[in-house]
Amino acid sequence: MSDCIFCKIVRGEIPCSKVYEDDKILAFDDINPMAPVHVVIIPKNHISTLMDVDTEKDDIMNNLIAAAQKVAQIKNIAVSGFRVAINCNAEGGQVVFHLHVHVLGGRKLQDELG
Ligand code: AMP
Ligand code: ZN
Repeated sequence: MSDCIFCKIVRGEIPCSKVYEDDKILAFDDINPMAPVHVVIIPKNHISTLMDVDTEKDDIMNNLIAAAQKVAQIKNIAVSGFRVAINCNAEGGQVVFHLHVHVLGGRKLQDELG
């Protein structure tokens, strides 16, 4: 999508602090971190929301979870612990309409699920 901010990051039109990348996935530090570790993991292909994932035909959710495991190891929070979150649509708090997984850690997370 031409005007999607995360698609622009995938295309290199907007810089990011890359944490992990493979052929289907890009992970980068969140620009407005809510915790010492806050990484956003996205599919390189544009998918607007969690509701647009076809889990019968597409293994992207598995790829995103696999990437979350890698990010946790890269950021050294796999043992200490972390939170994985996907916001979906307005009341879920989704602001960027390109599917993404938040990985939060590096401190004891409290009641921050809204
Ligand atoms: P959400 O509320 O789930 O849509 O989260 C969108 C996230 O993307 C927020 O945590 C933003 O801080 C983050 N974000 C927006 N623009 C950028 C950017 N250019 N680089 C890194 N993170 C970004
Ligand atoms: Zn996009």
